[in-house]
Amino acid sequence: MAEENRPGQSTLFSSLRKKIVFKFMLISFPFLIIISVLISILTPYWYRREALRALEDKGRSIALIAAHSLAPAVVFDDRQAMEEVFASLSQSPVVDYVFVFDSTGREVARYQRTREVIINPEEVRRSGLLPSNQHLNQYQQISVEGKAIGYVAIGLSLRDLNHLLGHIRRVIWLSAVIIFLLGLVIIYFLSRLVSRPLRQMARTAREIAGGNFSLRAEVQTSDEVGVLARSFNTMLDELEASLNKLKEARETLETRVEERTRELRDQVAQKEAIAQKLKESEELFRNMVETLGEGVVIVDRDENILFANQAARRIFNDFEGKLEGRNLKEFTSPQQFELIRDQTHRRRQGLRDVYDLELTLADGSRKTVIVNAAPEFDPNGQFVSTLAVMTEITERKKQELALSEAKQRLEEVITELEKRNEQNRLLLEMGDNFQIAGSEEEAIEVIKRYALKLFPEEGCLLYLRRDRGKFLELSCALKPPSPPVDLLEVNDCWALKKSMPSFFQDPEKDLLCPHLKGSLPPNQMAACLPLSSAGETLGLLVFFCCPEKSKSARGPDFLETSRQKKDLMLSFAQRTAMSLANIKLQQSLKEQSIRDPLTGLYNRRYLEETMDRELTRARRAGQPVSVIMADLDHFKKINDFYGHEAGDYFLQMIARTLQRAVRSEDIVCRYGGEEFTVIMPGLSLEKALARAEMILNSVRHLELVQGNTIIQNITISVGVASYPEHGERGLELVQAADLALLRAKKEGRNRVRAAGKDQGET
Ligand code: GH3
Ligand code: MG
Ligand code: MG
Repeated sequence: MAEENRPGQSTLFSSLRKKIVFKFMLISFPFLIIISVLISILTPYWYRREALRALEDKGRSIALIAAHSLAPAVVFDDRQAMEEVFASLSQSPVVDYVFVFDSTGREVARYQRTREVIINPEEVRRSGLLPSNQHLNQYQQISVEGKAIGYVAIGLSLRDLNHLLGHIRRVIWLSAVIIFLLGLVIIYFLSRLVSRPLRQMARTAREIAGGNFSLRAEVQTSDEVGVLARSFNTMLDELEASLNKLKEARETLETRVEERTRELRDQVAQKEAIAQKLKESEELFRNMVETLGEGVVIVDRDENILFANQAARRIFNDFEGKLEGRNLKEFTSPQQFELIRDQTHRRRQGLRDVYDLELTLADGSRKTVIVNAAPEFDPNGQFVSTLAVMTEITERKKQELALSEAKQRLEEVITELEKRNEQNRLLLEMGDNFQIAGSEEEAIEVIKRYALKLFPEEGCLLYLRRDRGKFLELSCALKPPSPPVDLLEVNDCWALKKSMPSFFQDPEKDLLCPHLKGSLPPNQMAACLPLSSAGETLGLLVFFCCPEKSKSARGPDFLETSRQKKDLMLSFAQRTAMSLANIKLQQSLKEQSIRDPLTGLYNRRYLEETMDRELTRARRAGQPVSVIMADLDHFKKINDFYGHEAGDYFLQMIARTLQRAVRSEDIVCRYGGEEFTVIMPGLSLEKALARAEMILNSVRHLELVQGNTIIQNITISVGVASYPEHGERGLELVQAADLALLRAKKEGRNRVRAAGKDQGET
C-alpha cells in the first residue's frame, strides 16, 4: 500500500528486490545446467562401464569353462562333443556366438544364435568390444597340459545392456530436468528469504521518507543485513539529529532572512536616495566642472583624453569638441610627453603632483600650463585614469622668465659689484699692508699675497730695478706659464720703453714684447705694466691672463671681463708702484737719518741704537763684543795746513780704510768730527786689539795727493774695550774705549790701548 502511495520509491525498492532475485537466479542458472548435464552424462556412462566390467567377468568365466569343456573335443576333433558344449553354452541367454579355432588359427567349429548378425571371424581373435558395439568378445586359449591346442571366442550380447542403458538414460535426463527446475524454485525462494530484511528496511525508509523519523529498521539478525540495518538506524539517528539542527537552522535563517530583507529594503531605499542625491550632485559637479575657469581633463593609462571641460578645450584650441579620444602625444613635444609618461608612472603609485607642462598645439603655438594631477583607481585597486586640473600660465611664465632674466642680470651685477667691492677692499687692504711694510722684501710679500687674491687665475711676474741701473731683476714669480726671464733690460719691454702699460690680447696679431717671446703660450693674454713714480721706473709687473679661455670662447662678456681685469691690473700696478716708491723714500730718509753724509758711515745715533741690540744678541749667544774708538792725531793741523776740503777728503779715505779693514758684520760709525767707532760682534778683546793694530798700520800708510803736495804719515790713536770685560751696556763700553783712546793720546798718540779691567783704563 505504501508502494502504491509512493510509486517512485516503490518501483525503486521493488526493482531492487527483483534485481536481487534475478541476480541469484542468473548466477545459479549455469550451475544448475552444469549439474543437470553432468548428472545426465556421467550417470549412464558410469553405469555402462560397471555393467561391461561385470559382463567381462562373466564372459571370462564362460570362456574358461568353454575352453575346458572343448579341450577333449578339439583334441579328438569331435564335432558332436563340440555341438554339445555349444548347446550347453547357448543355455546362457547372453552367449550369442562361439568360434573354435585350432592351434594354427583355423576355424574348426562355430555356433551362432541367430544368422542375422554377421560376425567376422578375424575380429574375434582378441578380447574386447567388437567394432559393431553389439558384442563383448572373450578370446580364450584351449590348452592341454599347458600346451595350446586351440582357441575359443565367445561373444556375449550387449543387446539387453544397451536396452537397459537407454531406459536408465531417459530416467536420468528426467531427473536432471526435475533437479534443474527444483533448483530454480529453491533459489527463488532463498533469494526472497534473503531480500526480506531489505524489503523491511525499504518499507521503513519509505515511511521515514514520508516524514516519520522516529521509525527504525527491525532487523535483528547478526549477519551483514543486520549490520546494514544497524548502520541504517545509526544513520537515521544522525539524520534525525541533523534534521533537527537543520530545522533550527532553517528557522534561524528564515528569521535572519526576514531581518536582512528588511535591512536590504531599507538600504535599497537609502541607496536610491543617495543615488538620487549623487545624480543631482553629479549634475551640479558636471555643471561646475563645465563652467570652471580651470581646464579639467581625464586621461587614461595610455594618455588618451577621456574627458575635457570647456576651459580645457580652450587651452587645447579645440573648438569643435573633438578632444576626447585624442592622445596627449599630439599636443606635446617628445620631451614633454616623456615628462607626462613619468608623471603617469607616479600616478600608478598613487602619487599626486603639481607640475608645469608645455603644450605644442596644431598651429605651432605653445602654451604653458600648471597641471595638478591626481590618480583614479577602480574598486580592485587598478589604476585607470588621471584627473588633471590645468591652469594656463603662458603669460605668467613669460613674465616670470623676463623677471628671472632680470633677476639673473641683477644678481650678476650684484655679484660683479660685490667682486669689485671685494677687489677694492683688497686693494685698500693691500695699501694698508704696504704702509706697514718697512722694506722692499716685506712689500714683495704683500704684492705676492694680494696678487694671488686679486688674480687667482692669472700668472704674475714682478721685476724690480735696483740702484737706478739698466736691468730689472725678477723678484717674484706666481704661476708663470713657462720659466720667466730672470734679468730684463729696459729695451726688452715695450711697456718700459714707452713708460705705458701694454696689453697683448692676441699673441698672433699684437706685437709681442721681446721678453715674452717664447714664454707666452698660444691662447693666452699678457699684460706688461711699468711700475714708475715721479718719472722714475721702479719695476715691471707682467700678468698672464685667462689661460682657460680659448679663442672661440671670447665674446662680448669676455671683453667686458677683460676690461675690468685691465682696470684692476692698472689699479694694482699703480698701488704697487706707489708703495714701492714710498718704501724707497722711507728707506732713503732712514738712511739719511742714520748715515753720516760726508763719509757714508753710520752716525752716532745709529751706533747707540745698534750697540745695545748687538750686546743683547751677544749675551744670548754667549759671545764677546769689542768696540774700537779711533781719533785722528793732530787733525786740526791738517785742516789748518791743507784746508777743510782736504780734511774732508781725508776723512772719507779714513772711512773707506776702516770699512776695508773690518769684517762685513762689523759696524763702522763716524762718532763725531775726526773720531770713528767700530763695533765688532763676536770679536774678543785680544783679536780686537790685533785688528786695531792693523787699522793703525793701514792709516799710517795712507797718502793724500793735494795739488803738488803729498800728505802722508797721518796717524790715529785707538782705544779698545770689550764685552763682557769692560761693561755690560753699550755706553759703558764706548766710554771705556774712549778712556783707552785718551790714554793712547796721552801716551804719545799713534798707538792702541785697551780699556782697563775695571771699566777704566790701565
Ligand atoms: P788731537 O791729536 O789731540 O786729537 O789733536 P787734534 O787737532 O786732532 O784735536 P782737536 O780736537 O783739537 O781738533 C779737532 C779738529 O778736527 C778740529 C776741527 O777743525 C777738525 N774737524 C772736525 N770736524 C771736521 C770736519 O768735518 N772737517 C774737517 N775738515 N775738519 C774737521
Ligand atoms: Mg784728533
Ligand atoms: Mg778729536
